[in-house]
Amino acid sequence: MAIDGNKIIHAVMEGSQIRESKGIIPLFGVYLSIFPINYYNKLSYGFEKMRKERQSEAETLLVRAAQECGYATFQGVRNSWEWEEIVKPMIDRKEDQIEGFSAVAFAFGWGDLKVKKLVPEETLVIQASGSYEASGYLDQYGKATSGKCYMLRGVTGALMDLLYGEEYPEGCFTFSAEEHLCRAKGDEYCEFIARKSSD
Ligand SMILES: [Zn+2]
Repeated sequence: MAIDGNKIIHAVMEGSQIRESKGIIPLFGVYLSIFPINYYNKLSYGFEKMRKERQSEAETLLVRAAQECGYATFQGVRNSWEWEEIVKPMIDRKEDQIEGFSAVAFAFGWGDLKVKKLVPEETLVIQASGSYEASGYLDQYGKATSGKCYMLRGVTGALMDLLYGEEYPEGCFTFSAEEHLCRAKGDEYCEFIARKSSD
């Protein structure tokens, strides 16, 4: 059976109306909260631009933070009762999980992730046409000279880690992703490619 992304998105949207007393949203096995994207972008690019000579170090840290976040979040998601009930019946093969994760990520507001190519154990290509990071960067700083969607770049690596890395929690950073096309630098959409990490 093919993965019905809309069904997953609806389940998340419906469940996300439940709030604990502190505003936390317990859903799909993880704890979520509402976080304004402008604030996130300000923190993230403010950190990156703090010291010009250490910009690439900041970029690496932001991508790694996103990858760890994606790795832990989707491990929680795929062990949840909601996943068991809603998504698992639609999964025929291991690779289908990626489509399920993308639908959940979309509903979480992380971006409209589209799986363009998946070579098991090797490569994952994901495209996004509405990344909030690219939009935020363009609004705040204008056109960039390199990819700026650190969150989705880390998440792309994390999805491959969850499928083909060692068993959780040992598999994080087995893969790493690059963003060679980004709307922030004038491309039509953002594109992320995850491959096995070289180190
Ligand atoms: Zn981008």
